[in-house]
Amino acid sequence: MKLKDLKVQMPYLELEAEFHDKTDISPLKNPFLISYSPDAAEILGVEIDDEDFLTQITNGDALLEGSEPFAMCYAGHQFGHFVPRLGDGRAINLGKTENGWNLQLKGAGQTLYSRQGDGRAVLRSSIREYLMSEAMCGLHIATSRALALIGSEHDVARERWEKGAIVLRMSTSWVRFGTFEYFYNTKQFDKLEALADYVIDESYAHLKGQKDAYFLMFEELVDRTALLLAKWQGVGFNHGVMNTDNMSMAGLTIDYGPFAFLDDYDFEYICNHTDTQGRYAFGQQPAVAQWNLSMLMHALSPLISFERMQEALAKYETLYSEYYIGFMRKKLGLLVEDEDDLPMLRWLFGMMQQEGIDYNSFFRILSRYDDDGSAILAMCDLQDPMRDWLVHYSKRLEKEQTSVSERHTQMLATNPKYVLKNYMLQYAIDKADRGDFSGIFELLTLARAPFDEHVELESFAGSAPKVFKNLKLSCSS
Ligand code: AMP
Ligand code: MG
Repeated sequence: MKLKDLKVQMPYLELEAEFHDKTDISPLKNPFLISYSPDAAEILGVEIDDEDFLTQITNGDALLEGSEPFAMCYAGHQFGHFVPRLGDGRAINLGKTENGWNLQLKGAGQTLYSRQGDGRAVLRSSIREYLMSEAMCGLHIATSRALALIGSEHDVARERWEKGAIVLRMSTSWVRFGTFEYFYNTKQFDKLEALADYVIDESYAHLKGQKDAYFLMFEELVDRTALLLAKWQGVGFNHGVMNTDNMSMAGLTIDYGPFAFLDDYDFEYICNHTDTQGRYAFGQQPAVAQWNLSMLMHALSPLISFERMQEALAKYETLYSEYYIGFMRKKLGLLVEDEDDLPMLRWLFGMMQQEGIDYNSFFRILSRYDDDGSAILAMCDLQDPMRDWLVHYSKRLEKEQTSVSERHTQMLATNPKYVLKNYMLQYAIDKADRGDFSGIFELLTLARAPFDEHVELESFAGSAPKVFKNLKLSCSS
């Protein structure tokens, strides 16, 4: 289908007025298309035959058939403090496609929920969100997606003047934990029910009509969130702003801000410069997600038995641990389950933290391990502890049935050669600031196929240059 023929429907507008606010889009000055994602276009089922039209849609200069732009209302716990009304302050929804993608513009101007904000997004943060949405998909992690990125000559005030940009995002759902919190806090329990029905329709269709559907939705969300967090931890992803308004009711990664991939392994790493207490530090994430689910549980309490939800939530830690160890076993090339695997991992992480070993490079290099540990040992200053670990690992491998080459193939498909580290994103941003978008195209190539070799982009494999390691990013975007 051509993009021009894409139609959208507005099911969210069928909910009562307090859920949303219809809003006009404020286009950017002199917009231009920077990049679009062929994979996102493909899942949407559209052919990008007219780049001007894609730019017009992304800038709000044209509307898809059926579109009535609106912003969504929600609340949320930000850094542990409840904020009774947030809402889409700079995101404007365009509607839902027949195949279930909710299209949304980020940075297309103010809405009813903008509070003090200008409704804009700057180019650097838009590049980060655009690329990372596609990169998470490439890593097989549930996420919102990004169809297109446009730049402009529109001045936007931050610490300095910057240029405005818009990402055309798409998600199977934009409903957040905080959406439920809004209606709970305002004691509009009938609207909680309408919202739960909407979420089941949108993200839990298989539960529709079941007598216990609300409870089953919560139970499944606990499971999906545990899986999501296991994958974040496994791949070394630090989200940075795990407020309940950034938690997806569908169990997706949403709202990319000051995120980072680990460089050197550091359990206590904090990517968000404003997170002075380390609430959202890398190692805290699984527990934070559980706390966020408990906030949601309160918000759902008028609909579902609190005790049953508590029982469901009590399973989170076990679910998380099982998913996590399962994922890490795959990263280590292990198919057989062994009780000793978790202690072996802890031992490894202790060494990685001590030695400052790049998290993803380690696993990629280990993916070609065949009793010659020289490539791994070369990553360490102090080699003896790692040598001991490798001896142990070799012994552990003897319990496996797979051949060396089978193990290598499986591990190379599990341990990415490329993750979009902050220094790489910064490289693309610096180039883009000079009007050269080639860095974005290069990183999109890596984002789409992070397990492939990409010899021509080899310089992005391995650890970050020393000066750029484990940086913190500001929230300003
Ligand atoms: P975030 O942490 O980026 O997900 O944003 C938290 C809240 O602040 C959301 O309600 C956003 O819509 C809002 N917000 C962030 N930046 C802006 C902005 N520049 N203009 C208006 N609202 C904003
Ligand atoms: Mg947000």
